[in-house]
Amino acid sequence: MEESTGTQARNVADSTELPVVIAGGGPAGAATAIALSGMGYRSVIVDPGMPVAVKAGESLPPNILPLLQQLDIQHLLQDAAHQTNLGNTVVWGSDDIQDRVFLAEPWGNGWHLNRLVFEQQLKAEAEHRGAVCMDGSIVTGVEGKQGAMRVSVREGIGRAEQQLDACFVVDASGRQSGVLRSLGVGRHRLDDITAVCAFVTAPGHRLQSTTFVEAVQDGWWYAAPLGGDRVVVNLMTDIGLRPKAGEGKSDMLLRRLKQTLYLHEWLGNAAGIGFEQVFAKPAGTACADRISGDGWLAVGDAACTYDPLSSYGITSAIGGGIYAAYAISDALSGNSHALDAYNHVQQQTFNNCIAMLAHQYRQESRFSEKVFWQRRYS
Ligand SMILES: Cc1cc2nc3c(=O)[nH]c(=O)nc-3n(C[C@H](O)[C@H](O)[C@H](O)COP(=O)(O)OP(=O)(O)OC[C@H]3O[C@@H](n4cnc5c(N)ncnc54)[C@H](O)[C@@H]3O)c2cc1C
Repeated sequence: MEESTGTQARNVADSTELPVVIAGGGPAGAATAIALSGMGYRSVIVDPGMPVAVKAGESLPPNILPLLQQLDIQHLLQDAAHQTNLGNTVVWGSDDIQDRVFLAEPWGNGWHLNRLVFEQQLKAEAEHRGAVCMDGSIVTGVEGKQGAMRVSVREGIGRAEQQLDACFVVDASGRQSGVLRSLGVGRHRLDDITAVCAFVTAPGHRLQSTTFVEAVQDGWWYAAPLGGDRVVVNLMTDIGLRPKAGEGKSDMLLRRLKQTLYLHEWLGNAAGIGFEQVFAKPAGTACADRISGDGWLAVGDAACTYDPLSSYGITSAIGGGIYAAYAISDALSGNSHALDAYNHVQQQTFNNCIAMLAHQYRQESRFSEKVFWQRRYS
């Protein structure tokens, strides 16, 4: 690890005996812990320890690879639970189907993740490198200043809180951004896009190793193979789950699917499909008003969330975790600008991504009269 990051391992007792406490053990929290361990810092990951929501299958672009290599965890994607993603099949900007394969990418293929397995792998890797995982716990409050932070942790519902002393606190608690909220840091939301997700067994589906994206009047569909006949589908929309009177959620999604030009055929004729586990998830774009401060910083979704069209969420979580570890190390070593720089770079990255997203949405002009699309053109 030290060789791959180019960072000299250091004795944590040189600066402080206290660990860095990380709220959240998703991709951002685990990546931060792994990167910190390579720099000689101890960390404690506090996490509920069980998925609070069903995780929809997700895709990783090829350019995640150098980040995984930097943490020396690229082997995690070789697990049979994850599948190769050769690129995207899109119906976007015209009524034709286009293949956008990753052939020209210097890093090769992308991946369709088994999200739960990936999280377990990352956490196990963090533990293997020395992080302590407090599963079954949540962070409920934070106070103090750099080098002397006090973190309130509750283990299970109805249990008493305990206090952990920390040299630094990381908010990696995802969209909930529990630490930022306890510090009174607000969030500005750019939109309220909702993902209506469902799993389906679709024998004969044609997705193979690609992600399918199809724009429709009030949003866009995303479908990805999960292995065998299993597929995950998501309708990204502002409307959310609004079945007609007497209609179930699954019927509502099926009715909408039948309105697609191609996807229903690619799933092997929608008429025979019964959706399982239909649920809605917030998927909007937002950024914390402040991403770092005295003794704390936020990383991953706790800092910024990105429209899933960007496929940037996990890359941001892992890349952000690596940068967060450098910023924490620099701050604890006395560099007074390290946290401001971290805040600035994260905000700048967010702004750049928003501009790229608007550009991507503007490529679709067939529905330019529709509110969903108008909201996303600027
Ligand atoms: C529908 C949808 C599709 C997506 N598709 C993609 C995709 O294809 N590719 C991609 O890269 N990204 C995708 N994303 C985004 C991606 O899921 C997130 O960006 C990513 O999970 C962020 O990781 P994280 O570690 O920051 O947060 P999370 O994965 O949310 O992890 C946060 C962890 O913190 C825990 N926690 C919460 N509160 C507390 C607390 N108070 N104390 C301690 N722990 C706490 C949670 O239980 C959780 O374990 C998608 C998102 C959505 C909604």
